[in-house]
Amino acid sequence: MNADQALPRVTYSNIRADFSGVHAMLDGRIGEFERLQLGHSRPNRIAGRDDARGEPYPVPCPIDAGLLLGTCIAADSQAVDAAVTAARGAFPEWSHQSAAVRIGVLRAVAGELERRKWDLAIAALLEVGKSRMEALGEAEESIDMIRYYAAEAEASGGWQRRPMQRAFAQEETADRLRPYGVFGVIAPFNYPIALAVGMLTGAILTGNTAVFKPSPGMGLSARLLIEAFEAGGVPPGVVNLVCGGAETGRLLAQHPEVAGFAFTGSHRTGMEILRHCASGRFHRPVIVEMGGKNPAYVTRTADLGIAAEGVARSAFGLSGQKCSALSRLFVHADVHDAFMDQLVARTRALAVGDPRRAGVFTGPVVDATAGRRFESAVADARAAGGTIVCGGGRLSGGLFDRGAYVEPTIIGDIATDHRISREELFAPLLVVHRFDDLASALGEGNAVDYGLTAGIYTWDRSELDLFLDRAEAGVLYANRASGATTGAWPGIQSFCGWTGSGATGKGGLGPHYLIQFMREQSCTVMTE
Ligand code: NAD
Repeated sequence: MNADQALPRVTYSNIRADFSGVHAMLDGRIGEFERLQLGHSRPNRIAGRDDARGEPYPVPCPIDAGLLLGTCIAADSQAVDAAVTAARGAFPEWSHQSAAVRIGVLRAVAGELERRKWDLAIAALLEVGKSRMEALGEAEESIDMIRYYAAEAEASGGWQRRPMQRAFAQEETADRLRPYGVFGVIAPFNYPIALAVGMLTGAILTGNTAVFKPSPGMGLSARLLIEAFEAGGVPPGVVNLVCGGAETGRLLAQHPEVAGFAFTGSHRTGMEILRHCASGRFHRPVIVEMGGKNPAYVTRTADLGIAAEGVARSAFGLSGQKCSALSRLFVHADVHDAFMDQLVARTRALAVGDPRRAGVFTGPVVDATAGRRFESAVADARAAGGTIVCGGGRLSGGLFDRGAYVEPTIIGDIATDHRISREELFAPLLVVHRFDDLASALGEGNAVDYGLTAGIYTWDRSELDLFLDRAEAGVLYANRASGATTGAWPGIQSFCGWTGSGATGKGGLGPHYLIQFMREQSCTVMTE
């Protein structure tokens, strides 16, 4: 057994394990990674070759603006076109491989990710500013995802049924799912490894090929991922990398030769891609996972200690920059004050700082824009007569002046329809409302344009059942001290999206995920 294997596996849920060995490993590895990996120029990757077409741009580290992660290239129209052409060129051979071959390749990629998991986690830590535990949890999640989908693909038996019903005895009938062609895979900043891997796996395991556009600041982890995919045996052209921001994203989203999209990101961008695809000449599938404004409920029967821990983790983990983050809390009036005492004490104890250090719970928000969004929400809350229960400000001095470090913030006495209680802010800002009647509170919790996660803390079975019945969200959780990133599946880590009316979209990383990357074909053959 090597040293890695002796260490406990970091997931979003196993918060009580002894991670001292993991921290000792990271103490050595983070500095080494910075020495070896930072400051380099990173070209895009098209048809298995480096490609430098486009505009180079520097990528600063959100933890410390003085640290340059490297230089990436915003792919221009020629590069995006070349990437799509490469993916189209690779499609016939890849799509005609047997499912078993593709499953084998993806499992080899999972092995490569596992070998590189420390580097991948450190890349995400430096690019996003996430804590050690969040970063390692994400690296593990990406490995889980591939293995989970590979098992799902295997269990499907190649996504075909035969025979189907027959009109005549001499008919042969079959039904099968087949890939579309080239998928544009567009990823957000906050989970640069797991969400990219999830979407890429969905696309290529099912026989499509892909052009991958990560968030502009995530070129370091994107290159590491591409290297792992290639090392695992993914043929040239099957996955291509084009970095850049909204402009490169638009070039890809509007490219006529892209057959479908897997997108994770904000509601605004997702809807723009959906609208563009709806206006085209052909149907193109768009698998979207968008934002959240996620409620939780603390009832009279809750264990207030567990609730306070779960709420603090859900609201302030990764500085509130998770699609699953809790941002609207409803607390029963009878326990409101006692609960708030515990929540405020926990929140004040959360360490905000340099996430490279052990013991830091959360780092900065990702950039100056996110910092300003936080400040304007606090100002709006004050102007509306809200109470800043704790936090509310920017941290300053030393490192805090070289990144957007903000305090975990709780706001009370604000109307439930105020924008800070209805709009996704993607910041460590929790709005707390009192309630007397759970059914009404659930109605209010549902009254947003999203539906990603919802949680409850209660020991009363009828309250729990009411919540499970009424909450309109893709991920429901109850009585979890580890919070909203539930880890229900696949494997034990990820979450699914809500397929209902909310803005989350119809992605869903569960057992029904893969079939969205394929179209149905029925075959009827008359035999002699
Ligand atoms: P974003 O929408 O700003 O960007 C997402 C991606 O789209 C990036 O790669 C970006 O460069 C690209 N892009 C931007 N404009 C584009 C355009 N016009 N056309 C094509 N591509 C374009 O989102 P973000 O700030 O990176 O991520 C945060 C958002 O993602 C939040 O809303 C969060 O809730 C959501 N998110 C959702 C999930 C989920 O599973 N539902 C998971 C993670 C994040």
